[in-house]
Amino acid sequence: MSERNIIAIHDLRNPASGAGIPEIPALPAGAELSSGLLADSLGRTLHDLRISVTDRCNFRCSYCMPKEVFDKDYRFLPQTALLSFEEMLRIARIFVACGVRKIRLTGGEPLLRRHLEDLVAMLANLRTPDGAPLDLTLTTNGSLLARKAAALRQAGLRRVTVSLDAMDDRIFRAMNDVDFPVADVLAGIDAAVAAGLGPVKVNMVVKRGTNEHEIVAMARHFRERHGGQVVLRFIEYMDVGATNGWRMDQVLPSAEVRARLHAAFPLMPLDAAQPGETAERWAYADGRGEVGFISSVTQAFCGDCNRARLSTEGQLYLCLFAERGHDLRSLLRGAHPSGRPWSDAEIAAAIGLIWQRRDDRYSQLRASQPAETATTEGSGRRRIEMSYIGG
Ligand code: SAM
Repeated sequence: MSERNIIAIHDLRNPASGAGIPEIPALPAGAELSSGLLADSLGRTLHDLRISVTDRCNFRCSYCMPKEVFDKDYRFLPQTALLSFEEMLRIARIFVACGVRKIRLTGGEPLLRRHLEDLVAMLANLRTPDGAPLDLTLTTNGSLLARKAAALRQAGLRRVTVSLDAMDDRIFRAMNDVDFPVADVLAGIDAAVAAGLGPVKVNMVVKRGTNEHEIVAMARHFRERHGGQVVLRFIEYMDVGATNGWRMDQVLPSAEVRARLHAAFPLMPLDAAQPGETAERWAYADGRGEVGFISSVTQAFCGDCNRARLSTEGQLYLCLFAERGHDLRSLLRGAHPSGRPWSDAEIAAAIGLIWQRRDDRYSQLRASQPAETATTEGSGRRRIEMSYIGG
């Protein structure tokens, strides 16, 4: 492998990136755009791509973007650093050629990115090699959804996931830490259902001692108001990033959440809808819809993780808990040593090589650690923030 064929790639944000700058291996000249399935070093095939469209958010949830860190002096990415919609479309098209079938737009808060419907419309036109449309979805805090749901649907968005941690207005305002009222998010969920973005998923992060008493109230609201059109999912509070001061004793295990819910509304297990699904599905025994449990702390699901994540500035991350990414923006904006731009086939080859070497299984490894060292500080790692790569 000659040195001039090696493109240095490095994490643009992460302080850990000083040590051992990763590289994209030599790219074969005349590489052809692949259309096969890509498997990583643990046999996991690439299927989902999550694209973060902004690192900014209008909420300051303490478990994600604590105010003390993300304050008025925090330096968010400059506009020039962000991938343009055209760059996102190009990279998405290449990922689809590499096997991606589902794209989720995320952030930060994705609805803060101006004209997001234009990006949705561009991605909605993409087709898999066998001519099928993508499963195109978006994760949002719901604050702007009432205004935007219809336009997003019209642009070609298929589904939406809304994050909501409490029904009680006082608890919700405290958790988002910007005093945002729950009624506006509920209106956003109603608008998404009305626009045909269903089944709408509602994700609730359960933090022991903070919102655990909201579990049954949340379930009651969505069962009674929307039945099967809204699927509530309970997420274990995770040790993502390095700023939220996560501790294991703040995690309410899914098994306990399920037991509390089952006592109020009896549940029956359902089969997974598709491989690699993050949530374990349960149905209400009375037929009024289903709920999900995402247990990345107590039941790591690294074994079939098929997700790649692209940051707003074009860094590719292979794990939610990664410490560094792979700089695809350099390939999109840079040039081959001969001066011409990198071709789609060459970028696809780079992505293929990166994915084939993937061996991340952070949550499984964390599960084997003693609980007392399983804190964000105790881990001794500088993980990337979730607001930077999205959920
Ligand atoms: N702003 C959008 C939203 O609120 O959905 C998208 C980005 S947000 C980072 C994506 C998801 O990550 C949200 O559902 C949020 O609750 C979840 N999240 C953030 N930090 C988390 C943590 N420490 N543990 C579990 N989930 C977390």
